[in-house]
Amino acid sequence: MSELRTRMSAAIGTAPVEATRRGAERLAELRRRAETDYPPMGEMRDLARAIRLHTLANLHRYLSEFCESAQRAGTRVHLAADAAEANSIVESILRAAGARTVVKSKSMLTEEIGLNHALDGFRVTETDLGEFIVQIAGDRPSHIIAPVMHRTRQEIGRLFADVLGVAYTDDPPQLNDIARSHLRRRFLEADAGITGANFAVASTGSVVLVTNEGNGRMCTSLPPVHIALVGIERLVPSPAELAVLLEVLARSATGQRLSVYTTVVTGPRRPDEEDGPVETHVVLVDNGRSRVLASEDAEILACIRCGACLNVCPVYREVGGHAYGGVYPGPVGAVLQPALGVGSADLPFASSLCGACREACPVRIDIPRLLVGLRHRLVDRSSFSWLGLGLEAYSRVASNPTAWRLFLSLGSFGLRTAARDGWIGRLPFHASAWTAHRDLPGPGAPPFRVWWRNRNR
Ligand code: SF4
Repeated sequence: MSELRTRMSAAIGTAPVEATRRGAERLAELRRRAETDYPPMGEMRDLARAIRLHTLANLHRYLSEFCESAQRAGTRVHLAADAAEANSIVESILRAAGARTVVKSKSMLTEEIGLNHALDGFRVTETDLGEFIVQIAGDRPSHIIAPVMHRTRQEIGRLFADVLGVAYTDDPPQLNDIARSHLRRRFLEADAGITGANFAVASTGSVVLVTNEGNGRMCTSLPPVHIALVGIERLVPSPAELAVLLEVLARSATGQRLSVYTTVVTGPRRPDEEDGPVETHVVLVDNGRSRVLASEDAEILACIRCGACLNVCPVYREVGGHAYGGVYPGPVGAVLQPALGVGSADLPFASSLCGACREACPVRIDIPRLLVGLRHRLVDRSSFSWLGLGLEAYSRVASNPTAWRLFLSLGSFGLRTAARDGWIGRLPFHASAWTAHRDLPGPGAPPFRVWWRNRNR
């Protein structure tokens, strides 16, 4: 069994996965309501897709426009080819500024490049509540927008009591207050703020962050230095396109009309402004994206990281985020990680191809098509595969009516013999994966083909 399968099998039915499933169902319902209550959402999604595909098709032009606009606004722009270069750029900026303490807002890109690990010599504090919990627990995020979806409030209460030395409570407002007073001190002492960016606007050189807690705004306005790490695919041409994407993102992620805080940072503080950083840096990170852009998987770069595909995915709901391994879980991760060349090679097989992710995706990324393409290339590469041999044999039998009828009769006989009280508890070979977690109903009587023939008669 591959590592991925072992992890997934071990996760099924565990308490963290049960908590994840409840959270995912809640978010999926909020998104569904936001969509049905707002009829133009269908057109907004088409428009959002067109914007993302247009930007990707003209990425070089928008990247140079962004660099010029950002520099004009006073931001220093750095280009990083890979994770190691991005981390070393951030470290040099911090050292040059004499920074020791850093506050950080949630960013999948910084998880991807392992920034916190690389900044070992600095005191880095995650300030998104979920990421803060993940950090003090020594855990990993399990969802793109809700990093601690796998933890219950009782667990979080015990964690706060153990690590922060406060009295136990599992009351969410009180837990919030505890985290807030702890983080407030960190914001005020910070020498630098590090954020990701939901979008970067080419025409203005701005980086845009959306949060529901306001921590992104504190990271970008209180410390004297702000560093934003931006994946090169996160560009939008101008504020007009940004407005469409912000609305589609919020409705798809949490069912909100807009996220509570939208922060737009365009260069350092001006002489007449009271707050804001005196130094702003943007690190544009490639880390495999140029290669993906030139490949058959380019469409996945249109992703706006809303998490909607995770919430509706039957596989994600059953195994949770950690079982996927790596940084990006769920359907988007099953495409993005192999495309970027990270994570388990067999991730594209972690899907039932039911199409729920494509239905939910606000930019209509055809994830099942991308998964099938990746599977195809994986199978092509292997010189011999039992699965390929089995499918070849199946295709021959299924295309010959006599062989097919014989196959069905033998199969039906075998299943009837194996059934006890109408249920089959164990199947052999690859089919055992099904019965490892559930029983299979035995064949109906009479068989469908006999029933159909008699009915027509
Ligand atoms: S693939 Fe689509 S649904 Fe999934 S996170 Fe990205 S934008 Fe959202």
